[in-house]
Amino acid sequence: MSFTLTIAGEAAPTHGSLDVVNPATGKPFASCPDATPEQLDQAMDAAASAFTTWRGDLAARREALVRAADAIQAAAPEIGRILTQEQGKPLEAAVGEAIGASVWFRLTSEMPLEPEVLQDDDELRIELHRKPLGVVGAITPWNFPIVLAAWKIAPALLAGNTLVLKPSPFTPLSSLKLGEVLRDVLPPGVFSVLSGGDDLGRLICEHEAVRKISFTGSVATGKKIAAAAAPDLKRVTLELGGNDPAVVLGDVDPSAVAQKLFEASFANSGQVCVAIKRLYVHESIYGAVLDEVAELARNAVFGDGLEEGVKYGPINNEPQFQRVCELVEDAKAAGATVVTGGGPRAGDGYFFEPTIVSDVAEGVRLVDEEQFGPALPVMPFRDVDDALERANDTHFGLGGSVWTTDLERGVDLARRLECGTGWVNQHLNLVPNAPFGGCKWSGIGYENGRWGLAAFTEFQVINAAKALRARVAASARRARAASLSRAEWGGPGSARAGTT
Ligand code: NAD
Repeated sequence: MSFTLTIAGEAAPTHGSLDVVNPATGKPFASCPDATPEQLDQAMDAAASAFTTWRGDLAARREALVRAADAIQAAAPEIGRILTQEQGKPLEAAVGEAIGASVWFRLTSEMPLEPEVLQDDDELRIELHRKPLGVVGAITPWNFPIVLAAWKIAPALLAGNTLVLKPSPFTPLSSLKLGEVLRDVLPPGVFSVLSGGDDLGRLICEHEAVRKISFTGSVATGKKIAAAAAPDLKRVTLELGGNDPAVVLGDVDPSAVAQKLFEASFANSGQVCVAIKRLYVHESIYGAVLDEVAELARNAVFGDGLEEGVKYGPINNEPQFQRVCELVEDAKAAGATVVTGGGPRAGDGYFFEPTIVSDVAEGVRLVDEEQFGPALPVMPFRDVDDALERANDTHFGLGGSVWTTDLERGVDLARRLECGTGWVNQHLNLVPNAPFGGCKWSGIGYENGRWGLAAFTEFQVINAAKALRARVAASARRARAASLSRAEWGGPGSARAGTT
């Protein structure tokens, strides 16, 4: 397998390379180019130059996005296979992610972007135009490299921007493949893909050609990016980490919700920004829910994502694997009970047993921090107000959910969660027509829907006075009024004037 950078619509030469590890084996299986600063400049020059024409024709951009959607759909099996090997997720989920990206391009191609008329009367015509920003630097993480890239590329391009994508060094290959797939679909320079280390991300954020940084990743990196963007006042959208609580009320049937709770916690082996990361269960059903989710964890089929029947893959990379090990060990040392799992699986790869932990509470790192892996703390509560207070007592604010048979109450309680998306009787269900983003440290700005598209634009208000027409009309009115008053009051030239 060999992969190349896409710069100015062409494969760029590889000057240096980085190993890419298959997390199911823990061993390198391919390499990616390590883009040089000169190649970054070339990609930025190409993007800036392409912007001058790309911005001009909305209809052409809509058509290009549809062609891109077709191309991604056709390549989904191939992209998916690469994704499984570098990311670890099961093949079906990986192909599904690529198809999801294609769907995102298609839906985005139809989104409205025409000017709005805010006022149109005798005096004024005021129009609101959405103008592209210029070159966008897009930086993505390793958990959903393809679909999260699509959330940026499709709206940025529809709005008339051009974009340079830098994937995570842990999962660069599927994005490089995406660059190859779109080489003949999009005009040169409109979309470039550069792989490299974290420092390449820093250089993108500092690059003078970049007008907007669209970033998905950790809170720590998000803060660095906000600081790097400030001197040039580059626009930023930051989609950052989460520590989502799920609050399960006592009126639900444990066996009706256990599977859903488990899936929303362990999807992608817990490596989802909006996975359930803290489970609060009413004490009346606590034991039953704990037993059920532990049983599901015990029976979860985890392994190499290329193997038939595997539902949960490994942790993506060594540092993250060590972190999950550390958080679970820390919880044990703090007196937590490991109900099932509790450690790495023997053998190769970054496999961690699906783990359920009880007898744990706030103040323990597994609860307070984002574990981003297959280890879930399950905690009882007596009073729902107390549960909400505990749920909200965090710097994070990405998602949260309430589970109850009383829908109205569920909605009321979900509204009290401090988070960007509050679900009721579900979690993780992200839809293309709603904005997605976090409050507090979970992010700045939104992706998806018309709000995500607007984030790749700047407003321009065109405020036109109908002055000339209005002045003509006004002077005609004044002339009519003057002749009336002359006639009535005997002004100069009036018939009455002669009589005085
Ligand atoms: P990360 O912050 O370590 O890396 C993300 C990207 O930033 C990578 O491409 C990396 O190379 C790059 N990067 C690192 N340092 C940089 C710098 N100084 N300047 C510019 N770029 C730099 O995150 P990760 O470990 O890849 O991803 C996991 C995190 O992402 C988790 O916290 C997860 O919750 C979060 N995440 C958030 C969302 C969301 O939409 N809110 C979605 C997925 C993941």
